[in-house]
Amino acid sequence: MSRKITIAIDGWSSCGKSTLAKQLAKELNYIYVDSGAMYRAVTLYFLRNHIDWTNEEEVIAALSDIHLAFKPNSKTGGADMYLNDENVEYVIRDLVVAEKVSEVAAIKAVRSFAVEQQQQMGAGKGIIMDGRDIGTTVFPDAELKIFMTADNAVRVARRFKELYEKNPNVTIEEVKANLEMRDYIDSHREVSPLQQAEDAIVIDNSDITPEQQLQLALKYVKTKQTEQNASV
Ligand code: C5P
Repeated sequence: MSRKITIAIDGWSSCGKSTLAKQLAKELNYIYVDSGAMYRAVTLYFLRNHIDWTNEEEVIAALSDIHLAFKPNSKTGGADMYLNDENVEYVIRDLVVAEKVSEVAAIKAVRSFAVEQQQQMGAGKGIIMDGRDIGTTVFPDAELKIFMTADNAVRVARRFKELYEKNPNVTIEEVKANLEMRDYIDSHREVSPLQQAEDAIVIDNSDITPEQQLQLALKYVKTKQTEQNASV
């Protein structure tokens, strides 16, 4: 049997990171962790409780009241994000949260809070985590790092379709502005900005199907597993 490895998937917003991560987790029987859901849940808590996130003390006090957990969802076969025992998987996908999440995710205390938990989840390997800083900060020693990208228009169309199904009032301009803003803040923040790890393999999925994307990634996984087995 192949030794379990750690797979880090990073990239721009709406590049299909979570689609690939879920596909791989199913195929390899690995744990999938959506790190963005954690930042979204913290943002939801801050918004609901009117936390002034420019005030460091207030942020630190609020974080001590936040408990995050992923719990399995038997219907989807995946895991849902729970914020203080409430299932927030659906509500954290809202544009209201998306509009503020990058600001919140740029705060040092918030990142330490999330990264520490993410590293604990990955301690046993056999994990696939997607996000912005997984290959650079959370698991710098991950055996396989994938950096995903896609054409802007393709990304906007994908995210618009997703959000429109939930809320027909959403406009394509709003979605485009949100993606551009998040990418800008995510790649320019001081702590763990979004950047391609030196040893990451790039997948551009603008013109490939999810199935082709999976087959490509599986090829990389096999290569890394073979290298791992050979190094024992
Ligand atoms: O992946 P998703 O789009 O749900 O992430 C939401 C936001 O959370 C990102 O735009 C980014 O600001 C933040 N994030 C992050 N680091 C991660 C994952 C997400 O800063 N590892």
